[in-house]
Amino acid sequence: MTGISIDVPVDSPVSVAIALGGNLNNPAETFNNALTRLNDHPKITVAARSPWYSSPPMGPPQPDYLNGCALLETSLSPNELLQVLLETETGLGRVREVHWGPRTLDLDLLLYGDRLIESDHLTVPHPGLGDRAFVLQPLTDIAPDWVDPRSHKTIQQLLQTVDCSQIQLAVNQNPPTP
Ligand code: ADP
Ligand code: MG
Repeated sequence: MTGISIDVPVDSPVSVAIALGGNLNNPAETFNNALTRLNDHPKITVAARSPWYSSPPMGPPQPDYLNGCALLETSLSPNELLQVLLETETGLGRVREVHWGPRTLDLDLLLYGDRLIESDHLTVPHPGLGDRAFVLQPLTDIAPDWVDPRSHKTIQQLLQTVDCSQIQLAVNQNPPTP
């Protein structure tokens, strides 16, 4: 860990990357609602969102996922932000049942500035960051040059190490390109 308590609010806003995933009900609408809720929080600003992509599920058989990423500016501590993410999941209908099972909304904390965090309930960068094409593709769209503090590679470099053949732009669930 690099000299920050994960419980104490920070003085000036920190840039954070989150992943959004879901495969029940209308994930695109749920993602938009989630970002609106997060932006409504007095200590969170949503600075960017990626296009949404569809990808095959991990875990038990279930519908394809919609995935995307967003960049936030926040003065919440990592723990406080995790709690807000978990509350947002629950508020938008997530019920925790099967591990890696179908869900309306999964919000993962990918990167919190350049911090390395390892606690019982929070690991940052997210452990799946380096090998999940469905995270690296949308994150590259909005933060290609962000350096992963664990591997010291940029997000764009990490993307080049994974197989993106199953990740497709969800054309019907994104605003039309101009
Ligand atoms: P998954 O995202 O792997 O499907 P869950 O969304 O059910 O799993 O999350 C389970 C727990 O993972 C959360 O309650 C949280 O405490 C923990 N966790 C650890 N690190 C992170 C992280 N970087 N982002 C989100 N959750 C995390
Ligand atoms: Mg999660």
